[in-house]
Amino acid sequence: MKREGLILILSAPSGAGKTSLCRELFKIFPDMKESVSYTTRAPRVGEVEGEAYHFVSRAEFECMVTEDAFAEWAVVHGNMYGTALRTLEEARKNGIDLVLDIDCQGAQRLKEQFDGGVYVFILPPSMGELRRRLEHRSTDALEVIERRIARAAEEIKEARWYDYLIINDNFAVACQELASIVTAHRLKTFRMMEKVGKLFDI
Ligand code: 5GP
Repeated sequence: MKREGLILILSAPSGAGKTSLCRELFKIFPDMKESVSYTTRAPRVGEVEGEAYHFVSRAEFECMVTEDAFAEWAVVHGNMYGTALRTLEEARKNGIDLVLDIDCQGAQRLKEQFDGGVYVFILPPSMGELRRRLEHRSTDALEVIERRIARAAEEIKEARWYDYLIINDNFAVACQELASIVTAHRLKTFRMMEKVGKLFDI
């Protein structure tokens, strides 16, 4: 029985600390891989094709939509983002544990269409703290920060249908909680049987 890869979906409003948590997760589980999405947004300085994203034109993206190549896709801040179905199927088949950093709309579509993913939503400890973090870290105009906060308030309403919720108040605790979720799903019997079968010849 071949081990089935874990598909971990992470969503969070901007400022909840998802990027830092992801970074820690990859330190704890170096064999986990980040899913590489397709996007129509232009690469930022230092972004390399095929690492953070596959950068494609709008026409190429729309062609993939027509061909049903996406497991989910969504428009985020005016750009199109999507996860290729092939990326998920290959990871799962090859026993690779994959992390998807996708927005709530995309996560919801995926949950409707794709069986077996584990959905985690990361929350800030309060709206006041979220505001403080966004103001502190950002050089953005106040108007942009206000828009992010309004969007965050909408996204937080989506938390209810995720499988797990992590409140990122204390970063070390939040890391531990995220790692615990991954560990529990890695220890599921159907994921362990390949190894146990070889160890004990059953
Ligand atoms: P950025 O352009 O800053 O890298 O990402 C912007 C947003 O797009 C983030 O909230 C991220 O979660 C979301 N995103 C990245 N890849 C995908 C994807 O494949 N599908 C969806 N639905 N959202 C994505």
